[in-house]
Amino acid sequence: MILKPHLQKFSVYILDLLFPIECISCGEEGKWICAHCLAAIKLNAEDHCPICAREGKTSRICFDCRNKSYLSGLVIGVPYSDSVIKKAVHLFKYRFLQDLADPLAEILIKQFNGFAGLKDFVVIPVPLHKKRRRWRGFNQSALLASALAKRYGLKLLDDALVRTKNTIPQVEVADRRKRIDNIKNAFGVIKSESIKDKKIILVDDVATTMATLDECARVLRLAGAKEVWATVVARG
Ligand SMILES: [Zn+2]
Ligand SMILES: [Zn+2]
Repeated sequence: MILKPHLQKFSVYILDLLFPIECISCGEEGKWICAHCLAAIKLNAEDHCPICAREGKTSRICFDCRNKSYLSGLVIGVPYSDSVIKKAVHLFKYRFLQDLADPLAEILIKQFNGFAGLKDFVVIPVPLHKKRRRWRGFNQSALLASALAKRYGLKLLDDALVRTKNTIPQVEVADRRKRIDNIKNAFGVIKSESIKDKKIILVDDVATTMATLDECARVLRLAGAKEVWATVVARG
């Protein structure tokens, strides 16, 4: 059965009323991911260039790949092969479970513990188009970005980068080349004075090809950003 988006959203709401909140991993009632299962999630511990996978000391894009991306590096929370995270990200995004923002943000927060020069960064979420945001009710990336910024006392800039084009979701676009075309010119900077000379951490829930993150980084760099790092809960 295929439901229209608003009906789909409504049916999800009804389902959530009927079924109690329980840990998606062990089934314990009360939280979507219980403290025990959250602590058991294995964080991504490898430091390698996100483009060529060469090992390094950080997740910085290596010297040989620096002309292939506008990003300086990508900090990944966990491998997407982690089944709990896979399920959590899906529920967060497609079942509109805002409560999952906290445990997912906790993963990003742990990964930035000890990140060099963190206090000089500002945090920016990958924006949704306003139509899509209105339909979903929240921007999942903004919830993660806000939690990360809050924990480390960093400035959150959630209105400087905007999505000007309501593109087809990247997951529905088959190959890498088409994803790059789909996202091209989809973003704009409306407050370039708040971006100029800034070191930025761009936050999204999942990255597959990095096309979206790279396009955001491109417009941020054009607006004068000094450095753009990205972070995602999982890499697909
Ligand atoms: Zn559990
Ligand atoms: Zn590389």
